[in-house]
Amino acid sequence: MADCLFCAIVAGDIPAQRVAETARALAFRDINPQAPTHVLVIPKDHHPGLAALAAAADGLLDEVAALAHQVAEDEGVSETGYRVVFNTGPEAGQTVFHAHAHLLGGRPLTWPPG
Ligand code: 5GP
Ligand code: ZN
Repeated sequence: MADCLFCAIVAGDIPAQRVAETARALAFRDINPQAPTHVLVIPKDHHPGLAALAAAADGLLDEVAALAHQVAEDEGVSETGYRVVFNTGPEAGQTVFHAHAHLLGGRPLTWPPG
């Protein structure tokens, strides 16, 4: 989609530190990390948010979640624990309207989140 930051990252028009990918999902490091591991996992196709991603055909949301777990394993945080967050809508702090899961780990994470 034109004027979408994450579509531009998928296309390679904007650089990102890619860490893993599948046919339909891409994982890259957040530019402003909030934990030692802070990776964004996105569908390569444009879906504006979680609802659209969940409604997409063929288990695309499953693929995003499975890739998040794979990255957690690769980063060595799958045993210590990690968090996967979809900020959805303005009060949750969503700023990029291309669906993305934040994978956070590598430090104790407080609950409830701020
Ligand atoms: P949201 O606030 O929508 O849940 O998350 C958007 C995330 O994208 C933020 O954590 C922000 O740091 C990250 N981000 C914004 N611009 C860029 C960028 O150009 N490259 C990368 N790698 N991450 C970005
Ligand atoms: Zn997009």
